[in-house]
Amino acid sequence: MVSVPEATSIILSHLFRPKKEKVSLVLSTGRILAGSIQADRDFPPFDRVTMDGIVIRENEFLEGVRSFKITGTQAAGQPPMKLTESGSCLEVMTGAILPEGADTVVRYEDVEIKDKIAHIRIDKISKGENIHFRGMDARENTILLSAGIRISPAEIALMASVGRSEVEVFTHPKTAIISTGDELVPVNQVPLPHQIRISNAYALQAALHELNCESNLSHIRDQKEALVHNLSTILGNHELIILSGGVSRGKFDYVPQVLESLGIKKLFHQVTQKPGKPFWFGTDDQHAVFALPGNPVSTYMCFYRYIRPWLIKSLGADSLFPSAILARDFSFKPLLTYFLQVKIYYEKGKAMAYPDPGGGSGDFVNLKEVDGFLELPAEQTDFMAGEVFSFIPFRV
Ligand code: AMP
Ligand code: MG
Repeated sequence: MVSVPEATSIILSHLFRPKKEKVSLVLSTGRILAGSIQADRDFPPFDRVTMDGIVIRENEFLEGVRSFKITGTQAAGQPPMKLTESGSCLEVMTGAILPEGADTVVRYEDVEIKDKIAHIRIDKISKGENIHFRGMDARENTILLSAGIRISPAEIALMASVGRSEVEVFTHPKTAIISTGDELVPVNQVPLPHQIRISNAYALQAALHELNCESNLSHIRDQKEALVHNLSTILGNHELIILSGGVSRGKFDYVPQVLESLGIKKLFHQVTQKPGKPFWFGTDDQHAVFALPGNPVSTYMCFYRYIRPWLIKSLGADSLFPSAILARDFSFKPLLTYFLQVKIYYEKGKAMAYPDPGGGSGDFVNLKEVDGFLELPAEQTDFMAGEVFSFIPFRV
């Protein structure tokens, strides 16, 4: 039996070593970047006009000139024109390169145009106005993105602008999700009165899918031979194995002994926590095996508290839990870390956690009412409104 902090540190010291793969630009969303991205040019790459209007030389304006002869139009996507003649201006469009010899853009809103003459209607301008100067945001060759970040649409835009139609990301482990139990039937089957439909495996698959990690599902009966046979096949072609069920003290809970017989070294069995006490974790050179208790709330909590951070850290990114403020007094006597189901409301910008414990680890109906688990430490029994605790969100 280990404590929650011990279980955490054991799990996080057995990370998966990912490989790298190239995926097409948009499909890299949500993945972890495997190599840094450099600016191939300055950002912006040229002095860019930011408003539709006219472009002039500021010194002429300072000398008192207010009417400028329009000698042409600089559109976006055209090579730079030249402003030469004194007392002249060019019309310029947003996104155009700044014409040579010009230094200040005056918006159409501040100009009146008549017979090819632009009259400036304002008394003050400042040099360089309405121009986004070359290299202002980033210089050529600077690192725009470092390996280990999780790619969001903002990063997609940056990578597109430097010409990456493909992106190198870390690979996810080949993942198997296994339901154990003779009482379980697949989602598309009508259960007999003494049976239930599998639900955990789908929740786990969905939670992994949110991390872009795809997985294979299987179901094994509570029989030693079936477990040995199926698990050895599954170990042959997967790296991350998540089981639910069969790790408690039941007569037919064979999972731990079968895993050990197949060469998976037990790193802990049982954690001083509620829910999820029977949690088993083991590894060998090529596998990490999380054998979770089958009760749905336990399975769910263990995924978000242990497996999700393990996966994110394995891929080189940071995974830290936020905190939330307990909104009502709460007591929990046993010397176990209690993962309290809570609903979060933001009050004056603070995350307030309202307890809604539900009906125990089998009551997964209650999960739809809450946003995550507040981690209440084992050594404390009375928790006061206003105290701050680690919060494990699952609506992420
Ligand atoms: P176990 O951990 O095998 O003792 O199972 C504990 C409880 O969780 C039992 O009521 C099981 O029927 C239930 N359970 C186990 N696996 C699943 C699953 N994949 N989906 C839903 N419930 C499950
Ligand atoms: Mg079972």
